[in-house]
Amino acid sequence: MGIEAQFQKVEEKLYQNRYLVDAGQPHIKIAPHEKPSKNLLAMTHLCPAGCYTEAESGQVEIAADGCLECGTCRVLCEETGEISWNYPRGGYGILFKFG
Ligand code: SF4
Repeated sequence: MGIEAQFQKVEEKLYQNRYLVDAGQPHIKIAPHEKPSKNLLAMTHLCPAGCYTEAESGQVEIAADGCLECGTCRVLCEETGEISWNYPRGGYGILFKFG
């Protein structure tokens, strides 16, 4: 087996995960805001799942589908009240597949 076959790219590993959407019950919500803080805006680059986007209006939006539950946004933005963060309900959310 060649060395390239032994090492998968991160994107390929992430693709193996499965995500069950809890429709209408997002586990992360952003509080209404005029202008995002630096931390909230930074999430558009930091979230490994690409859940955060900057709208044309300059506000930050989230689509929590695909969230890896890494907690980065929770650490950076929950204390200020900009987001509310909970684990998905049982049976929903990310299903990690390793190997
Ligand atoms: S917990 Fe991690 S993966 Fe989920 S939205 Fe926050 S930064 Fe993205």
